[in-house]
Amino acid sequence: MDNCIFCKIIGGEIPSATIYEDDEFKVILDRFPSNIGHVLILPKKHYADIFEIDEEVAGRLFKLAVRVAKHMKEVLGLEAMNLVQNNGTMAGQTVHHFHLHLIPRYKDDEVSVKWEQLDLTDEQIAEVQAKLKL
Ligand code: 5GP
Ligand code: ZN
Repeated sequence: MDNCIFCKIIGGEIPSATIYEDDEFKVILDRFPSNIGHVLILPKKHYADIFEIDEEVAGRLFKLAVRVAKHMKEVLGLEAMNLVQNNGTMAGQTVHHFHLHLIPRYKDDEVSVKWEQLDLTDEQIAEVQAKLKL
């Protein structure tokens, strides 16, 4: 993808602080992190988002995420972490190449991963459940 920043990072055209790399994935530090140690896991192949990514690739990516998260916990001495993965501009995605955020959480930090909660009735929940059942 010609205009994709992450494809350029993967291709070596744009530098990145890489902490792990294999045939299929690159793990880098976010250039504009929400917290110290904010990591991004990128598949080397370009998939725009969750709706495009290959299921098997996503499975291997998540397996790698577990490894990276445990490593981060150990070396950064973390107790908490958020995984964030945005899909589509409306959901806050700014780089349209699938990526998973691993965001370390420290006591009293100012990272916010929050939303207002809806107070649905049981009927409304049942309606959504019926619609979404796989
Ligand atoms: P999104 O908002 O799409 O979920 O996340 C994109 C992330 O990419 C942001 O957290 C942003 O800071 C990061 N980012 C944008 N440009 C660059 C870059 O050139 N290098 C690196 N390492 N991260 C970037
Ligand atoms: Zn790309």
